[in-house]
Amino acid sequence: MRAVRMTAPGVLEQAELPTPAAGPGEVLLRVGAVGACHSDLHILDAPAGIFPIPLTLGHEIAGIVDQVGPGVSGWSPGDRTAVYGIIGCGHCRACLRGLENQCRVVPVGGIGLSRDGGLAEYVVVPASRLLHVGDLDLSQAAPLTDAGLTPYHAIELARPKLRPGTACVVIGIGGLGHMAVQILVATTAVRIIAVDTSVAALELASRLGAHEVVQAGPDAVEQIRALVGPPPDGADVVLDFVGADPTLITARQVVATGGKLLLVGLAGGTLPVRPVADEPPTVPLETGVVVPFWGTRAELQEVIALGQVGQLHADVQTFPLERAPEAYEALRRGEIHGRAVIMP
Ligand SMILES: [Zn+2]
Ligand SMILES: [Zn+2]
Repeated sequence: MRAVRMTAPGVLEQAELPTPAAGPGEVLLRVGAVGACHSDLHILDAPAGIFPIPLTLGHEIAGIVDQVGPGVSGWSPGDRTAVYGIIGCGHCRACLRGLENQCRVVPVGGIGLSRDGGLAEYVVVPASRLLHVGDLDLSQAAPLTDAGLTPYHAIELARPKLRPGTACVVIGIGGLGHMAVQILVATTAVRIIAVDTSVAALELASRLGAHEVVQAGPDAVEQIRALVGPPPDGADVVLDFVGADPTLITARQVVATGGKLLLVGLAGGTLPVRPVADEPPTVPLETGVVVPFWGTRAELQEVIALGQVGQLHADVQTFPLERAPEAYEALRRGEIHGRAVIMP
């Protein structure tokens, strides 16, 4: 089968591999679609020794069951599925509560991170990682598993603060942010304020239901403050899908006292929680900061349900498998609008 693999740090290459077989408890999927995620760039950029090499990337997978391994029940060839990418230990405190994204035994990993992923014609996954998607288009189902699930989980963590009439600031309307806007529209009655540097991204946010848009820049904080009022009031929830120094400065300057700041983006910015001399103000008093990670299987089922009723739609740009390296380069240059989806 054809696959696209990381063969050395920073190197993504086409490969011809034997088609794998499903072992006990596993299922062989014919891959229908794989989302290209910023995390894949972090994997590619990581120094040797952190991720296995060679590694077939791709952790946002949707596909059709091709072969069922020994001991698997409930799945048959032809079933249309989405893959929950995390593989927790299954028996720690967190896993027993269904929080495999907080597993206390297995370090951060999963399909396409610590074992071969979906950038191939076929992938083997544990049957327990599959969810039915019905007749949902696979190019939609794939991005739901991460670009949809990660913002859904972040919003779930902030849910008690997302009261009707409050404001939620969404920073970064990319692959995850444009899903966050739709999830907020579908599941809350908050005033959504979208922030991005790109005018096209802000237009997308408006089309998806954001009530206000603010272009990132020197006066963004002032513009957001005009909408949410002066401190100690502010936005009850801020979702930062970028996580760079400038976005974190904006985030902490607009969040309300007692609010919640969710740092989802991995751009490497610093968020001081104690006042630093000559720096912009730190997070307000009583404000909670969370660094969410991906989501749970139960949440993925709800995300798929939103997709099935048409309330969550990924804006996708599709690429054939042989153009996957090109898709990642475009992602790196910030040229992908919505989500790049590779169709093997
Ligand atoms: Zn991802
Ligand atoms: Zn565990």
